[in-house]
Amino acid sequence: MDHFLYKDGHLHAEDVPLSRIAAEVGTPVYVYSAATLKRHFGLFRQALDWTDHLVCFAVKSNSNLAVLKLMGDLGAGMDVVSGGEYARAKAAGVPGERIVFSGVGKTAPEMRMAIEGGIRQFNIESEPEMRALSALAAGMGASVPVAIRVNPDVDAKTHEKIATGKSENKFGIPISRAIEVYAEAASLPGLQVVGIDVHIGSQLTDLKPFRAAYVKVADLTRALRAEGHQITRLDLGGGLGIPYRRDNNSPPLPIEYGEVIREAVGDLGCEIEIEPGRNIVGNAGVLLSQVIYVKKGEDRDFLIVDAAMNDLLRPAMYGAHHDIVPVVEPDLGAGVHPYDVVGPICESGDTFQKAAELPEIAAGGLIAFRSAGAYGAVMASEYNSRPLVPEVLVQGDHFAVIRPRPTYEEMLGRDSIPEWL
Ligand SMILES: *Cc1c(COP(=O)(O)O)cnc(C)c1O
Repeated sequence: MDHFLYKDGHLHAEDVPLSRIAAEVGTPVYVYSAATLKRHFGLFRQALDWTDHLVCFAVKSNSNLAVLKLMGDLGAGMDVVSGGEYARAKAAGVPGERIVFSGVGKTAPEMRMAIEGGIRQFNIESEPEMRALSALAAGMGASVPVAIRVNPDVDAKTHEKIATGKSENKFGIPISRAIEVYAEAASLPGLQVVGIDVHIGSQLTDLKPFRAAYVKVADLTRALRAEGHQITRLDLGGGLGIPYRRDNNSPPLPIEYGEVIREAVGDLGCEIEIEPGRNIVGNAGVLLSQVIYVKKGEDRDFLIVDAAMNDLLRPAMYGAHHDIVPVVEPDLGAGVHPYDVVGPICESGDTFQKAAELPEIAAGGLIAFRSAGAYGAVMASEYNSRPLVPEVLVQGDHFAVIRPRPTYEEMLGRDSIPEWL
């Protein structure tokens, strides 16, 4: 459930008409609902209320400081995958003890930054990384908590670009070698082994792969304990999917996901961490856009809109679907017209949807791409020198710009021409 609903014939974010945001901020613009964010975070917390836990928001899904502050104030931890994300989490007021550092290619400066600033745990993804972290931490006189990410060789049955739990993927160490790697970890200075980490992919719409992976983690926990390791924490990753289509079967609910966790690992007495991103923020955001032209083609009509693939990359990158809805509510029984909805960028890949069923819409009309809160603004670029898309946060009947649209001067001002030219 989200808070983007029609009221008095106009699509609102909570109590703010989207047309008001378009008029005041311009389009394209991302609009997020604080109430939806809070609601979704609460559902995960409730799903794990049977045990000690920390819900770590996956910062890569939406890293705006206002969103992170909102989540952090609710008590969320943060899952970061770069020094930049670590800096954002800290700048949003999240203490280091609630920040988990994941990612396959952490550099020494990134690790140093997190050790100095405080860290809940590093999720180690390879043996070379483990040795590098050990040397660095020991050199700093620190002992850092670590979990080792295991690759359970489970097919997440999701898009190939976001599946991470098969042996062919670059993530984690093979679970079959875990005993050996944990033995080395325990012998290294500067590391304090606290748990096991797993993350099998994103936009999972079935609980079975989660169950399969978590059962393997439970078996590994027992095996490692038998070897004398203190396994007190399990980081079970993110990945629970969201409905991108109104008419689709909905993916499982957080409460059902929590039950799978309880069944698989609930008897181990471990503290549980999860790292949801998409499921918290995906349906808490829309991308609001205006129709520039309606172009009649030979066999189809095009809606040329002012949002483009540089603002919302998922359709071009993953062939992803986002429901597109008009901001003015269509009359009951109004006919629909198929439009190819496209952006202005000079690539045919800049197509959001073919034959989208929309009511007749004229130039100047507003549309919203739903479910755009996750992996939307964070993947935006300035391709075609289109200034970075702004972001707005709504709470109740008010809203704030949480990232302004850069002016052309600001955009150009980041380049510099060398003296010798
Ligand atoms: C991407 C990622 C997540 C978040 O995935 P969602 O599908 O957005 O929930 C969590 N943990 C790690 C390690 C990731 O790489």
